[in-house]
Parts: sequence; structure tokens; C-alpha cells
Amino acid sequence: MPDPNGFLRYDRRLPARRPVPVRISDWREVYPPAGEELIREQATRCMDCGIPFCHDGCPLGNRIPDWNDLVRTGNWDAAVDSLHATNNFPEFTGRLCPAPCEAACVLGLGGQQPVTIKQVEVEIADAAVARDGLRPRPASVSTGRSVAVVGSGPAGLAAAQQLARAGHTVTVYERDDAIGGLLRYGIPDFKLEKQHIDKRLAQLTAEGVRFRTGVEVGVDVTAEQLRAEHDAVLLACGALQGRDTPETPGRALRGVHQAMAHLVAANRVVAAAGDGKPAPATLPDGTPIDAAGKHVVIIGGGDTAADCLGVAHRQGAAGVHQLDLYPEPPTERDAARDPWPTWPWVLRNYPAHEEGGERVFAVAVQEFVNDGTGQVRAVRIAEVTVEKVDGRRIVTALPGSEREIPADLVLLAIGFEGTEEQPLLAQFGVTRNGRGAIDSRPDWQATDGVFVAGDMHRGASLIVWAIAEGRAAAAAIHTYLGGVGDLPAPVDPARQPLAAR
Ligand SMILES: Cc1cc2nc3c(=O)[nH]c(=O)nc-3n(C[C@H](O)[C@H](O)[C@H](O)COP(=O)(O)OP(=O)(O)OC[C@H]3O[C@@H](n4cnc5c(N)ncnc54)[C@H](O)[C@@H]3O)c2cc1C
Ligand code: SF4
Repeated sequence: MPDPNGFLRYDRRLPARRPVPVRISDWREVYPPAGEELIREQATRCMDCGIPFCHDGCPLGNRIPDWNDLVRTGNWDAAVDSLHATNNFPEFTGRLCPAPCEAACVLGLGGQQPVTIKQVEVEIADAAVARDGLRPRPASVSTGRSVAVVGSGPAGLAAAQQLARAGHTVTVYERDDAIGGLLRYGIPDFKLEKQHIDKRLAQLTAEGVRFRTGVEVGVDVTAEQLRAEHDAVLLACGALQGRDTPETPGRALRGVHQAMAHLVAANRVVAAAGDGKPAPATLPDGTPIDAAGKHVVIIGGGDTAADCLGVAHRQGAAGVHQLDLYPEPPTERDAARDPWPTWPWVLRNYPAHEEGGERVFAVAVQEFVNDGTGQVRAVRIAEVTVEKVDGRRIVTALPGSEREIPADLVLLAIGFEGTEEQPLLAQFGVTRNGRGAIDSRPDWQATDGVFVAGDMHRGASLIVWAIAEGRAAAAAIHTYLGGVGDLPAPVDPARQPLAAR
């Protein structure tokens, strides 16, 4: 029985982040562990509200009040089991999830302070590793059926684990040289050290999942071959088609890049250094892409932009500007616009924003300015207003508001346009919809025997949704293969986040 008065005794508290000068001199995670005393105190704030809206906020349906109370009472083994019952990879979500559950927490009503759910989650996840090193749970009986999973991000990995534990033979195909999808080469180490992925992969391998890296399905192996070798296929190829701005003058200048090019190169440098092979940050063709000593301009306001900011500081940028098309959001929920328990539009300050740089709101780039040699030397921006008319975005520049910001390196972090156009799609007979995503039937099949999940199905989203869709698609595949019993399916393909309209 949770403590109904805990929130009256304790305020919301998070562990201190590592000091900025220390953390930008390395690539280690920003947060140190919270410590048992703090985390048990914070779990005590969960008050047995009766109707836990946090369950609806979390796409995985994590049993948040249950594990909060188990942590409060120091029952860590049971907390680990409760968390793993709904989430294959809480060490990823506990570190990286924006925590829509906290926006839906009853304690957050009326602008109060929600339970630190995400922090409790990561502490339970790390306790699992510390206690039994993520003990494998291989299936006791094989079904003799075989599944190909294409793409090794959180959606593909969650599905692979669910299916392997149900007795199916699972092979994960990944075109990159390492497993993990965006967790591996998109998200920087200061948000997620890669040891967490490696520990989980050791568990999946011990549970029988086979991994084939450096294999691009549709090129190195055809859809026909995959269908012949396996009884079902799951496509979990992400939504990695970066949005561009080809119409902006100067886009082709040297020094103007997609954000992902910068992040992947930086992540590869960190990985190589960890393997004792220091290397410079370069694009695949050898072009250097490093922020050291440069004036960096990041265009965009989301996760990707914040990750570029943190990377630029760690690489030693001379200065960083982050530009956002939209006006600065309020610091508190506007209940008329986004009533509790929905996800509010508020200013999100990532740890990277504490580390320096200047955020500029309500501006749009008019031109990438040439230094006369084909290299960018500045961006010319204008202040703008943005309106939605008939669902279309109208951006209007304010006359006389133009100015230049120095720029040697410009990074486009302006979103993603869905899954990439690639040979695999035609070979499987699937096409991108208007959002660049792949539609599925209610049973997650994109076409007969071919299932789809994660960002490839939903469009660029979140890790928690990728895991939820991976679990649900695995349940559908298990049924399709005639597996005994049901696997858990936390979401259906039409499920949307909590919304007021
Ligand atoms: C920079 C950045 C930071 C982010 N930060 C956060 C965050 O902090 N919190 C959060 O919740 N979400 C974050 N996200 C979003 C999150 O990473 C994604 O929603 C999630 O990774 C989607 O998982 P997925 O498994 O669907 O696809 P992905 O992780 O994109 O994995 C898809 C995989 O498929 C592989 N693939 C594609 N085509 C083929 C093929 N033909 N053959 C073989 N393999 C193929 C790709 O190489 C890739 O490895 C971030 C995204 C980005 C870009
Ligand atoms: S996965 Fe995200 S939404 Fe779900 S409990 Fe964890 S932090 Fe909350």
C-alpha cells in the first residue's frame, strides 16, 4: 500500500548533473546515479492516486505505481521484475524518454511537481544489471518457426527479444557495422553510453537472437531470399530520411550538413577511441566534419538539435547558435491549450542547453552566405511569424529584421520525412504514405507475412513508442505463426499519444 502522504513530506528532487566544465571535457553520461536514499524518497511521493493516468501517458503501459512502491519499500528484485514485465529496455527509456507519464502524473495537476518516474525507472534498470547482469531468459522449447527482423533499433530489438523468448528463431539484419539503430550512432554517449546497448545485446545473443551486421536488405540480400529463408519478416528500418531545405540559397556550400552526418561521425569517433583507435570526425567520403574552433549554427529545436549542441561543445566549438522557427514556448503548461494529462507545449531545456550556446527563437534562414570560395561563412536570418492556414504552415518574414550570424559549420536538424526510399520497399511491395511512413493493417502486416513497426510505421517518434510497437508487432507475428498463447501487445497500430483534440 503506497504512502498517501509522501508527496506532502518530500519535494520533487533529481540527482545533481555532473558540473558543466567537467562533463564537456569528456563524453560520459551527464547524470551520475541518484543513490538509494534519494530514489526511495522520490518513489515515496507516488501517492496511490487510484486512477493512475501515468499508465495512459506511457505507451508501454509501465506499471508505474507498482514499481514505485516496491522501490519505496526496498523490494528491488520485485521492482526489476515488474518493470521488465512491460519494458524490454528500461535502461534506454529511463535515460532517454521525455516521460509523457510525468506529464500525466496526478501530482502534476495544477502545475504541481510530478513524481520523478523516469529517474526511478533508470535506477531500477541499473539495479537489474547490478543484481544479476541481465540474466538471459532463453525459451525452453523451440517452435521451429523463423523470423527475419530488418533494422536493429529499439523496435527491431524489442520484437526480436519477445519472439526469441517465445521460441522462434530470430535473425536481425542491420546494414550498419554495429547493432542499435539510432541508439548506436545517432544519440551521443553523453545521453546513452554504449555499454548499455552492449550488455543488452549479450543477453539477446544468449537468448538465441542471431545478428547479421553490414547487410542491407534489398541490396546485399533480396526480399525474395529473406521470404524464402524465414516464415515471417518484420520491417523496422526507422524514419531516417532527413528533411532538407534545397530551396534556401547557398544550401550546396561546403560546411552545410544534415545534423545526422555530424552526429554519426562524432559517435564513430567516440566508439573508435573506446576501441583504442583514435580517428578524426569525417563523413563517409573522408570530408572532415568537426566543430573544433568553429562557429556552429544549428537549425532546429528538437532532440537532434540539442544533441548537436552537446557534441559541438565537447568538440570545442568557438560558439554555437541554435535557431528555432517558432516563438519561445512558455515555461509552464497552458491548460487551455494542452490540458492535463496531455503532453504540454513548454520550453524544454535539455542538459546541453546548460553547457552554452545561444538559442534564437522565431527566425528563419534566408541564405547560407558564401565566403567567396564555396564555403559557408554566415547564415542570413530574418525574424518570422508562423501561422497554420488550412493545415499548411505559412512563414512570413518581418521586413527589415534580417541579420547575419557567423557560421563555419551549419547543421540542419529540421526533422525527418519518414522512412528512406530504398530498394527494399519495392521488393517487398510496400510504398510510403503521405508522411513517408509504411501503413499496416490492424494486425501490423504491411503485406502478407511482412510486418512493420517503430519509426518506419509511425514516422519519427520516440524510443518508448518504438519498443511498444516492437512488442505489439511481435505479438502479432507470434499469432500469425500459430504460437501458443498470446504475447503482450501494449499498443495497436492506430494508437496515438494522449491528446485533447
Ligand atoms: C539525434 C536523435 C536523437 C534522439 N533522441 C531521442 C531521445 O532522447 N529520446 C527518445 O525517446 N527518442 C529519441 N530519438 C528518436 C528515437 O531514436 C527513435 O524514435 C527510435 O530510435 C526509433 O527506433 P526504430 O527501431 O524504429 O528505428 P531506428 O532506431 O532508426 O533503427 C532503424 C535501423 O534500421 C536499419 N536499416 C534501415 N534500412 C535497412 C535495410 N535495408 N537493411 C538493414 N538495416 C536497415 C538502420 O540502419 C537502423 O539501424 C532521437 C532521434 C534522433 C535522430
Ligand atoms: S518509458 Fe517513458 S513514458 Fe513510460 S514510464 Fe518510462 S519514462 Fe515514463
